[in-house]
Amino acid sequence: EKLYGVKRWSSGYFEIGPNGNLHVTPDVTNAEMRIDFNDVIEEIKEEGIQFPVVLRFHDILRSQVALLNETFIKTIQDAGYQGQYRGVYPVKVNQMREVVEEIVDAGNKYNYGLEAGSKAELLTVLAYNTNPEALTILNGYKDEEFIRLSLLARKLGRKIIVVIEKYSELLLLVKIAKELDIDPIIGLRSKMTVKGKGKWEGSGGDRAKFGLTNTEIIQAARYLESEGMADCFKLLHFHIGSQLTDIRAVKDAISEGAMIYSELHHMGFKLDYVDVGGGLGIDYDGSKSTNDSSRNYSIAEYVADVVFGMKEVCDLEQVPHPTLVTESGRAITAHHSCVVAQIVGEIRANSAEMETDVEEHEHILVTNMRDQIRLLETQENLQEIFNDASQYKEQAISAFKLRVISFEELAKIETLYWQIMVNLQERMQSAEFIPEEMQELDYNLSSQYLCNFSVFQSAADTWAIDQVLPIVPLSRMNERPNVNCSLVDITCDSDGKIDQFVLGKGISDVLPMHKLNKGEDYYLGMFLTGAYQDVMGDMHNLFGRLNEVHIFSHDDDPLDFYIEEVVTGSSVDNVLSIMQYNPTFMAASVKKLIDAKISEGEIKPREGVKWTDFYENCLKGYTYLKTS
Ligand code: PLP
Repeated sequence: EKLYGVKRWSSGYFEIGPNGNLHVTPDVTNAEMRIDFNDVIEEIKEEGIQFPVVLRFHDILRSQVALLNETFIKTIQDAGYQGQYRGVYPVKVNQMREVVEEIVDAGNKYNYGLEAGSKAELLTVLAYNTNPEALTILNGYKDEEFIRLSLLARKLGRKIIVVIEKYSELLLLVKIAKELDIDPIIGLRSKMTVKGKGKWEGSGGDRAKFGLTNTEIIQAARYLESEGMADCFKLLHFHIGSQLTDIRAVKDAISEGAMIYSELHHMGFKLDYVDVGGGLGIDYDGSKSTNDSSRNYSIAEYVADVVFGMKEVCDLEQVPHPTLVTESGRAITAHHSCVVAQIVGEIRANSAEMETDVEEHEHILVTNMRDQIRLLETQENLQEIFNDASQYKEQAISAFKLRVISFEELAKIETLYWQIMVNLQERMQSAEFIPEEMQELDYNLSSQYLCNFSVFQSAADTWAIDQVLPIVPLSRMNERPNVNCSLVDITCDSDGKIDQFVLGKGISDVLPMHKLNKGEDYYLGMFLTGAYQDVMGDMHNLFGRLNEVHIFSHDDDPLDFYIEEVVTGSSVDNVLSIMQYNPTFMAASVKKLIDAKISEGEIKPREGVKWTDFYENCLKGYTYLKTS
């Protein structure tokens, strides 16, 4: 537990069980509930579902929806706040139908709504957010069709709020609303002067992509007044960035937003809602700090700052407390899904060795390197041995290129070099001080475990923005892991690797894992992938989407679970069709080639049928490696 620091990032959902397997407690309010990942893996195998898979724990989604809503309800009560909470879930964070349906269902009793940022998302929320009390918030750039759809929703009696991102949208909305004689509910998004801290800090400030400046907000409000539509202006919106790492940015944004709301009130615009956007962060690395992959606050602290911050300003300004809206996406979905993938091999720079005995007339570079091995026994200055060996290796490579030494001599030198490095690394374990260059020894000598997944599909942000995601073995955690590894995926891309890991002691470039036992499967879990990662993956190398397994816990047995649904991942013919290939044509084309060889007598007819079937089955099969 100390080594992997699971408790620090898992928010109570995951822990290492006494049997060394990872366990999940999908409903944090019911600590009795505990599902062993190993049991889930066994059931998946029994059902014949191939790995890698995405596991979705629907109870976690429900649990997070309840946590956010209950925390707001309690804090509002404690603070004596006069307004209500009406949160919305931004579907862009994970648009999977099953995810959206579960959130809507779990949120129904809280009148929890949905947010959409594009026309496709708007069409989705129109069909799925049917609770007339729940809000639907529309962000993003809009065209005429988008606005007409929002007005259709008004006709259907829905609380749908069009948030104006740029001034011209307001003119279009007013024009169409008048034409159709439907009163819209309008929100104005402020650019805010406060900037968040973290990777998405560009979401606020003068250069923000979305929102109106203070001047534009005043002009927009006055324009609505002049059009007799001041009463339609009901919401002030801001969003200063996702994954806000520092609570001070939240406090600053709330006090600025509350002041704008109050001033608008003084100007005669009686708004009902203040929407503080998303930004509630996730502690991916468990450090509770302002690192990009962490946050220095809890959900309770965030909610308290929103509620008390708004109340303080409103009371001073003597304006009513507005209904509070948040658009937290990451905090709702991050924990509920993880990727389970199998290790299918090991890559090590020093895995193969040459015979290195002294030979007559061997090249001086080989002798020099061997001398360093002898010096390891007598010389105290290990850094000097490190430097000399590194230099001989470089010289050997140049000598090989100049045809001075043979390929075999180069391999011998490499073998000796890695033997020296392993020895130095072992001796450095007990050293009080490790010189800078030698600190890389651990990394250089670490293994690379080949994992049957694609970074670009399942963990895009680790590649794109250096996001850290917790990764742990799912079993054997009561055994000391003695192989330090980085992870490489199965794409044909050197960038397809992960070499930043969350450990109890902090971020490390290697992950301690167990030696692979022959004939025994070894699975890893990549966690907190439910927000953005799940839906942002791309088709690099045509791997496509993973098989998905949706898990529910049993009400009557806290240690049991059932697979409610399996969503089949991409098959080869799926991904090829997306890229405009015609798999039927391809199968016919290969069959033709095989038939020609049969006619020429080079392939027997029975064998030809087998090859044809094999090609067709591969086309229908899963895109990832078939492991067992
Ligand atoms: N609302 C808006 C307008 C956003 O742009 C985003 C994402 O950046 C969100 C909500 C969701 O933010 P988060 O996932 O940080 O809660």
